[in-house]
Amino acid sequence: MPLAAPNYCPCGSTVAASQCCSRFIYQGQAASTALELMRSRYSGHVCGAIEYLWETWSESTRHRTSIAAIREWATSCEWLGLEILDWQGGGHSDSQGTVTFSATYRIGQQTHRHLEKSAFCRENGFWRYFDHCA
Ligand SMILES: [Zn+2]
Repeated sequence: MPLAAPNYCPCGSTVAASQCCSRFIYQGQAASTALELMRSRYSGHVCGAIEYLWETWSESTRHRTSIAAIREWATSCEWLGLEILDWQGGGHSDSQGTVTFSATYRIGQQTHRHLEKSAFCRENGFWRYFDHCA
């Protein structure tokens, strides 16, 4: 990625944020696939869009977290990048899907890699983060 890429979306798509995750985080558009939602939730962490992260968490599982916990996790580190490793389902005609990804972040001088397989579900027609399955 070129060095002068401040306008690229934080999710690493090499598309401007306004054409990518900002549409979902700030413009109220609905992600049409689980992968789009996944990318926008990563960008939400980068931007500190805590409300968005809360709203896109499934109502059936978000009792396991809290807005405070989401804020703590999103803002406690510097997010360096997202890499999508695999995905299954989560398409236009699906009601469930999984996305396997690696997110790199830094706390102080230490760089960490968060590897996760996330499960997504449709709720009232909208893609929501359901849980992590691995
Ligand atoms: Zn994006």
